[in-house]
Amino acid sequence: MNPKRILITGAAGFLGSHLCDRFIHEGYEVVGMDNLITGDLKNIEHLFKLKEFEFYHHDVSKFVHVSGRLDYILHFASPASPIDYLKIPIQTLKVGSLGIHNLLGLARAKQARILIASTSEVYGDPLINPQHEEYYGNVNAVGPRGVYDEAKRFQEAITMAYRNFHGLETRIVRIFNTYGPRMRLNDGRVLPAFIGQALRGEDLTVFGTGTQTRSFCYVDDLVEGIYRLLLSEYSEPINLGNPDEITILDFAKEVIALTGTRQKIVFKELPKDDPKVRQPDISKARAILNWEPIISRSEGIAKTYAYFKSLPSEELYRTEHKNFETYIHK
Ligand code: UDP
Repeated sequence: MNPKRILITGAAGFLGSHLCDRFIHEGYEVVGMDNLITGDLKNIEHLFKLKEFEFYHHDVSKFVHVSGRLDYILHFASPASPIDYLKIPIQTLKVGSLGIHNLLGLARAKQARILIASTSEVYGDPLINPQHEEYYGNVNAVGPRGVYDEAKRFQEAITMAYRNFHGLETRIVRIFNTYGPRMRLNDGRVLPAFIGQALRGEDLTVFGTGTQTRSFCYVDDLVEGIYRLLLSEYSEPINLGNPDEITILDFAKEVIALTGTRQKIVFKELPKDDPKVRQPDISKARAILNWEPIISRSEGIAKTYAYFKSLPSEELYRTEHKNFETYIHK
């Protein structure tokens, strides 16, 4: 029997590259696609020597052609850090609208099952905690996060329309904060920010008073959930994340303890529309996919810290976003 063939968009990104590894490991043929705006070929360099792996340097907002058969598509191409989508708002909207349209068309043409990466941001600044899948959310369409949140909400809507109208096989995962090796050290997200600061001997910057909460899932746990979802028969949106919720201030203290840095915590202005709470209700994932995270935060942070520490030291000082403060506090 032929191995299954899967297209993974955003293949050179944090989640995309881990998904490529997983599907190669499961015996699939993997076609990776990325325009490399926020992705990095270093994340998939080790796959280029494999005959089961091929790579298209392509922007999915433009017509997508892949020759040969495809059994599955994973759409993971998108800027995903608040700094990224403030910096490249139009691309963020395009990949979540034109991009998904192209991929749904490709899925139809190939009769492939498509799984799309959605996000906890569809719940916006939520008025209930934890967030379950039936919650409609509290999103500011014209705020700084609107370009991402609305693109992802549109993605969900068009994916359901293709399922209902064309009978396409679709899956939708709402991903909550996920971390691990291959995150970009300077993408502005809180864990790489704190670890980078610890490694450079800088104070850790907590935004606001640090009472806002997040729930952090280690990447291997998330990948396992996505793998199970793809192969399941469930086509409604489903939350995947780690329900272990923590305030950002306590998170900073954990990073200080785990890295042994002598730096202190400094407080900066809270960005506009920064969600005050976030915790996934994963009852559905538990029941339908028999899935829950198994890697604790201390174990996950230790692995991620080891990864960042192993990077060449110039990575630590590479400033991708020179106007970081201007972007986030606008
Ligand atoms: N945050 C912080 N210091 C930083 C970066 C982020 O306190 O240097 C906060 C941010 O305001 C938010 C939380 O950490 O409340 C998570 O931010 P992130 O950018 O990782 O993703 P979000 O969950 O907000 O999309």
